[in-house]
Amino acid sequence: MSRVAACGCGAVRVSVKGDPQICWVCHCDHCQRLSGSIGLFAAVFRDEDVTAIEGQTTTHRGNQEKWPGAERYFCSKCGTSVHWINPAAFPGMRLVATGCFSDPEFPGPNLAMQTKYRHRWCGDFDGADTFEGYPAQQ
Ligand SMILES: [Zn+2]
Ligand SMILES: [Zn+2]
Repeated sequence: MSRVAACGCGAVRVSVKGDPQICWVCHCDHCQRLSGSIGLFAAVFRDEDVTAIEGQTTTHRGNQEKWPGAERYFCSKCGTSVHWINPAAFPGMRLVATGCFSDPEFPGPNLAMQTKYRHRWCGDFDGADTFEGYPAQQ
C-alpha cells in the first residue's frame, strides 16, 4: 500500500509504502506549539519505505542538545510542517505528520506520550500505550 502526505497548498508531498512502524501522539508543551494543536501526531516510517519527497521545504533545526541532528521540514510556500527526522530517538526513520495524509482510515496512535500536558477534554486513544512522560521515563 502506498500513501501520500501533502502540505496545505499541495506543493510538498511525501510518498510512503507500507504501514508506519509506529504512530504516536505527543502532548508535551513543545509539540503543542509546534503543531498548533493539542498534540503532535506522527507516523514513523523506515527510510527505505519513503519512496519520494517532492516540493521545496525550509528547514528548522530543533533543540540540538536534547535531540542531536533533529530537523523539521515545512513547506516554503504555506508553512505546513510535513515531515521531520530525529536520529537520536528514531535512527533510520522519517516522521511524517499524520494529519498530512488526511485519511480517515490511517492507523491511529499506538503510543500516547506526555499526557500530563494533555487537555482535560481529550480522552485516551483506543489501543494506545499511554504514558504521563516519555515511555523510557516510566
Ligand atoms: Zn504548502
Ligand atoms: Zn512532545
